[in-house]
Amino acid sequence: MSVDVEDWFQVGAFERVIDARDWDSLPSRVERNTDAVLDLFAAAGVNATFFTLGWVARRCPALMRRVVAAGHELASHGWDHRRVFTMTAAEFREDLSKARQVLEDAGGVAVTGYRAPSFSIDQRTPWAHAELAEAGYAYSSSVAPLRHDHYGWSDSPRWAWRPLADAALIELPVTVAAFGRRRVATGGGFFRLFPAALTAHGIAQATREGRPAMFYFHPWEIDPGQPRVRNAPLRSKLRHYSRLGAMSSKLSGLLARHHWGRVDAIAALEAARLGVVAPSPAWTVAA
Ligand SMILES: [Zn+2]
Repeated sequence: MSVDVEDWFQVGAFERVIDARDWDSLPSRVERNTDAVLDLFAAAGVNATFFTLGWVARRCPALMRRVVAAGHELASHGWDHRRVFTMTAAEFREDLSKARQVLEDAGGVAVTGYRAPSFSIDQRTPWAHAELAEAGYAYSSSVAPLRHDHYGWSDSPRWAWRPLADAALIELPVTVAAFGRRRVATGGGFFRLFPAALTAHGIAQATREGRPAMFYFHPWEIDPGQPRVRNAPLRSKLRHYSRLGAMSSKLSGLLARHHWGRVDAIAALEAARLGVVAPSPAWTVAA
């Protein structure tokens, strides 16, 4: 179970209409929304991974401590939601390092997991997994093995895989539901906008293969009271604002129906399955 911790104005859908230089002046809702997510998880007895922007950790350090104190994993979602395929390898290294330092300082724990903003590791970023391995990450959950208008690496593996022969890093792709040769995402907006049966189909397929499912959503998705961005494209608005009010109860149902856990624990199991030998202290933390 995973949460991508970012504010309502930091999503990819609004990047052309909201200037990142204005972020500081917009009403932040990420702290109260993430606290509401913590309440949902506490009620369900679920531990999860919070892939958090460094930008958020710098402004809400006490929230990072609450996430950790509740037994969840604190992991990185990069600094300010720049997608990996818009960066050079050197810029990516810088982004990773800046975010991790702030997350670790705020949370008081080692950060060993990473999720790229908008699943932006794909064919365009052949250096990205090597940078993550070099920085000592145990796992990445940054690839969507499907074709979508904003993201996707359609011919990448559907289950956990090892991107580099000479490093222990594993990639845990987001779960997709397969309909014949077509693959559809099951988390985030897809879970919110489509019937729960879509996600159930993806999870059932994973279970039949004996593999864990990787689900994700965002704190803003349970916040019907967030400010409306009027000048965004209609399609972005439809995707972002539909069914926000129904999301909390839909999530509670999903939390209750399956056995969920932190991604670092799942990564350790999948690494063992893939025969990855634990080479670094990161694994001690992850286990
Ligand atoms: Zn994100």
